[in-house]
This record gives sequence, C-alpha cells and structure tokens, in this order.
Amino acid sequence: MKWIKRLFRLKKCEHDWKFVRNIYGDEINHCGGYRSLWECRKCGRLQWRESLYQEENINCQTFH
Ligand SMILES: [Zn+2]
Repeated sequence: MKWIKRLFRLKKCEHDWKFVRNIYGDEINHCGGYRSLWECRKCGRLQWRESLYQEENINCQTFH
C-alpha cells in the first residue's frame, strides 16, 4: 500500500524549524538576499529567512 505512505508524507507539517547556517558574502546574492537557512526537523523542508541568526546562540553545531 505505497500510496497510503505517500499521502501520509504529504500531510500538512507543523514545521519545527532548526537553524542550519547563516549566509555570508556573495552567497547572499545567490540566495535572493536571504541571510539564514533553516530546516524542519520533521519533514526536512528548507526555509530561507531575511534575518541573520545570532552566532552566539549556536552551541552544538558548526558548519563550514
Ligand atoms: Zn515540516
């Protein structure tokens, strides 16, 4: 019953956003002016935000 699983996946997700990384330099232009990237813990959807995430609040993740 694969189609049932597919329906379940399409169910509306109440996103639980997790900070991924901030966008700097030229990449800001490539990303349409957005400054930070977020990912939903539940469905993996990505969201771009115009505000920069405060670096000092990051204590468990590093991205390079
Ligand atoms: Zn989600």
